[in-house]
Amino acid sequence: MSEPVTFHKLSPTPPEMAAKFGDLHPPFEQQAAVVESNRCLYCFDAPCMTACPTHIDVPKFIKKIATGNLAGSAQAILDANILGASCSRACPVDVLCEGSCVMHRYNKQPIEIARLQRFAMDAFHAAGDRVPFVPPAASGKCVALIGAGPASLACAAELRRHGIAATIYDARPLPGGLNSYGIAEYKLPLAESLREIDMIRRLGVEFHFGTTVDSARLKKLEAAHDAVFIGAGLGAIHKLGVAGEDLPGVTNALDLIAGYKTGALTHISERVAVIGAGNTAIDAANAAVRLGAEEVFMVYRRGPEQMSAFSFEYEHAKQEGVRFHWYKGITAIEGTDRVDGIRVTSLEVSSDGSLVAVASSEFSVRVGMVVLAIGQATHTGFLGDAGLTIERGRIVIDRATGQTSNAKYFAGGDCTNGGREVVDAVADGKRAGRGIAAWLGGK
Ligand code: SF4
Repeated sequence: MSEPVTFHKLSPTPPEMAAKFGDLHPPFEQQAAVVESNRCLYCFDAPCMTACPTHIDVPKFIKKIATGNLAGSAQAILDANILGASCSRACPVDVLCEGSCVMHRYNKQPIEIARLQRFAMDAFHAAGDRVPFVPPAASGKCVALIGAGPASLACAAELRRHGIAATIYDARPLPGGLNSYGIAEYKLPLAESLREIDMIRRLGVEFHFGTTVDSARLKKLEAAHDAVFIGAGLGAIHKLGVAGEDLPGVTNALDLIAGYKTGALTHISERVAVIGAGNTAIDAANAAVRLGAEEVFMVYRRGPEQMSAFSFEYEHAKQEGVRFHWYKGITAIEGTDRVDGIRVTSLEVSSDGSLVAVASSEFSVRVGMVVLAIGQATHTGFLGDAGLTIERGRIVIDRATGQTSNAKYFAGGDCTNGGREVVDAVADGKRAGRGIAAWLGGK
C-alpha cells in the first residue's frame, strides 16, 4: 500500500451527535400535523391498519390528532404497540402502513402516518411520567424474559396488563437491544429509546443488566419462574473467512453503530469499506459518512437487484454520498499492524447462476476501516437441553401464541424469524405475552 490512511478523532458529545445525526424526518409542528391528519379519509377496513404488524388503529389515532386529543391519540397507538414511539421512527413505512395507504390509488401522496404517530408519541412522552395503563392486581405468576430487545419489552408490557410479574435479563448495560444499540441515530436516538423503555419500567417490569444467560443460568431461571420468554435476537455478524480479518480496523456494522451511539468509537478512517448490502450495512455506511469519512463505499457480491436493503434505503445512501461496487468479492484484507486495504476481485454470474471470479481481475483498494455486514449468525447455544425445536437456526414457535416445543418456554423476534423489523418483534412479543397469560390461566 502507498500512503497511510488517516483517521479523524471523534468526540461524540450530545451537541456534536445532534449536529451529525439530525432527524431523517423532522417532526411535525402542531399546525402541520393537524393539516396532515385532516387529509386522512379515515377508511373503513383501513389497509394501513392491516399492513401494520401490530395493527395500530391508524384512522383512530389520526382522527384524535385532528380533533386536538393528543393523549387519546397516543393511547390508541400504545393500546396496540407499546413501542409506538420507536416504531414511528424506525419502521420501513414505505413498505408497511404508508405503502398501503389508499391515497396511492388516487395518485396522491400517502398520509404521513409515521410522522403523525411520532407527533402523538412525542407529546405523550414529553408530558412526563405517564403510563398507558395501570396493571391489575398481582396474579402471583412470574415470567423471566431473556434479552431486553423489542420482543421482550413488548412481551413484558403485555404480561403486566395481566398482572403477571416480568423480569428481563440482558448481558448488556442498557436495555433496548437493537433499538438502543443497532438503529442509526438519525432514525432512533439512543435517548428516545431509553425514554420509551423507562415507561415500560414504570409498568412494573424489572431489569437485570450485565447478566449473561447461559444454559446453567437458564435452568435456574426456568425453575424460579412460571414461564420463560426467549427474545435473545441474533448472534454475531458472519465473518468473510479471508486472510487479515482479525486485523485492527476490521469491525462489523452493529459494533460500528453501537460504538458511535454509546461513545465507544473514538476514530473514523477517511476511507471506509462496508462489505454487504443490507439495511444494516447501509446504516453503517451512512454513519461513516456522517462521522467524517471522506470516502465510503459498499462492496457487494451481486447487483443492486439482489441487495436486501429496501430501495428507499439505497436511494438514501446514494444521497449521503456512499458509493457502490457491484459484483465484487473480497479475497483478502491487507495490512500488517492494522488494516490498510482490501483485495478485491470482480465476479460474474456463470451459466448455472453461481458467482465466479473474473480471471486476472484482482486489485487492491486503500482503506483504513473494513465494516462487515454480511448477515448475523444464530444465537441458540445457550438454550442447552431446554428441549426447544430449532430449525435453520431459528426457534420454532406456534405463531399464534409464541409457545415453543417446551410448553414452559415462549419465544419471539429475530431468534424466531431470522431477523425482521422492530415492529415484527413487537407483534411477536405482544402475541407471546397473551399466549403466556392464557397458558398460565390469566385472561
Ligand atoms: Fe388514512 Fe391512508 Fe389509512 Fe385510509 S389508508 S385510513 S387515508 S392513512
